[in-house]
Amino acid sequence: MSSDGEHSFDVLVVGGGLAGMSAACKLAESGLRVHIVEQATTLGGAVLRRAQTGQNPNLNGVHESSWRDLMARFDRVRKLMSVSVCSTYTGTDSTGAIVVTNTSTSTSVSLRPKAIIVATGALEKVRPRMGWHLPGVMTAGALQVLLKTSLRAPKKRVLLAGSGPLLLAVAAQLTRLGNPPLAVIEEARPSRKFWHALKLPVGYLLEAANYIKVLKVAGVPIYEGRFIARIAHCTSGLRVSFTGDDKLCFDTDFLALHDGIAKNCYGMRPVGMPIWHEAGDCALGLGARASRAHGEAVAIEVIKQLQVFPVESVEMKVRTKELLDVLSRERAAQSTLAKIYSVDEQSALDELPHEVIICRCEKKSLSDLFDLGADPTNREIRLNGRFAMGACQGRFCAHWINMLRKKAGTAEGDRLIGSHWPIKPISMQALIHEADHLLSAEKKSSD
Ligand SMILES: Cc1cc2nc3c(=O)[nH]c(=O)nc-3n(C[C@H](O)[C@H](O)[C@H](O)COP(=O)(O)OP(=O)(O)OC[C@H]3O[C@@H](n4cnc5c(N)ncnc54)[C@H](O)[C@@H]3O)c2cc1C
Repeated sequence: MSSDGEHSFDVLVVGGGLAGMSAACKLAESGLRVHIVEQATTLGGAVLRRAQTGQNPNLNGVHESSWRDLMARFDRVRKLMSVSVCSTYTGTDSTGAIVVTNTSTSTSVSLRPKAIIVATGALEKVRPRMGWHLPGVMTAGALQVLLKTSLRAPKKRVLLAGSGPLLLAVAAQLTRLGNPPLAVIEEARPSRKFWHALKLPVGYLLEAANYIKVLKVAGVPIYEGRFIARIAHCTSGLRVSFTGDDKLCFDTDFLALHDGIAKNCYGMRPVGMPIWHEAGDCALGLGARASRAHGEAVAIEVIKQLQVFPVESVEMKVRTKELLDVLSRERAAQSTLAKIYSVDEQSALDELPHEVIICRCEKKSLSDLFDLGADPTNREIRLNGRFAMGACQGRFCAHWINMLRKKAGTAEGDRLIGSHWPIKPISMQALIHEADHLLSAEKKSSD
């Protein structure tokens, strides 16, 4: 049960994307009271993010039927749920309480539900490159958020580079909104791996074919096997040059980079939590179809652990089997995609010049990392070097720093980001509010 007095519920679901909503529906259908906290202004997550106007944001229509189905289910059990948007889960404190901060009122509450499902999705990976910290460089995911929420394309030149199917999706979305990108420049060589592609489910192939068709009709060039050599300022914006004999080079206003996705479960470790699960991409990183199935499968597990029903029904067993089948299909599809888009990241990192910025938040370069000595500890990297100490708290740079350290044979390489909280900054005002709240609760109980 929550302890803040404002809510009364059994299960806290963090994240209102496909996994979180699907879990919440299943829990509520079983009669459990559910509270969803979502840091964005609307539910929907990475794929189903709604436009500010409320219009359909899914510019390619691929996931629309899934969304309609989920929303219909959600509406049927809505009365058994409470939803807080603009509410960020900031971590689990040393007493085991879940701390949630409302970012619009700067207030925090601590909650003690019977169970928590963390469904915070995936993070976009962007590998450091020479000049990637310059204004005008963004992630392809951030550009996609802009397109989905505003339903408008920026009126300037855009170039997409890096690796992964998201580049094609965003390029097609830009094109549909009337501003085709200058080009899509892919580091991998997917067209040379068509035999792998034949193993993908038909839905994946149709989605990719749809994007490529839109780009071909608009005359957007797609290059493969090219890496960014340098991003620099020029009189008309950014000049992006690529490796290869043909000296490929573009002048652009915006450069959108993408290097795949990683699980967004960092820093979240249960302390004294009776029931704790991670669901969807924050646990599996398998994409949209798997996230929805995993959310429901995790909810079934919670229903069993909370002993909502005296015995597990045949229907529940059958449903669990169906969900596990979906997950194994998606696991196979994602591993095929990984082969198609495989890039030698370590070699790309090894070739970086020493002046390249590694930690964008604190503007720390590769030579700053090397200046820490031959085998710095994690504390030295963080406290002396200031790496992973900025706003992102290492969510974007730690992966690359760990790879650079592995190259140097460092033993501690895997643990630069660990289990600490808060996972997001908390304002002083929110801390004061929470302290007042706890003091008045203590006073009431002693009276
Ligand atoms: C930038 C980006 C773009 C993507 N685009 C696509 C795409 O076009 N097609 C596709 O198939 N897959 C895409 N993916 C993969 C995508 O993550 C999954 O397919 C799907 O959205 C996963 O569902 P989910 O519920 O696990 O996570 P999400 O849909 O990401 O939902 C997670 C939710 O948790 C919320 N959240 C995160 N942290 C907190 C916190 N601390 N407190 C409160 N709320 C929090 C987020 O705001 C979000 O609403 C994309 C991933 C990224 C990172």
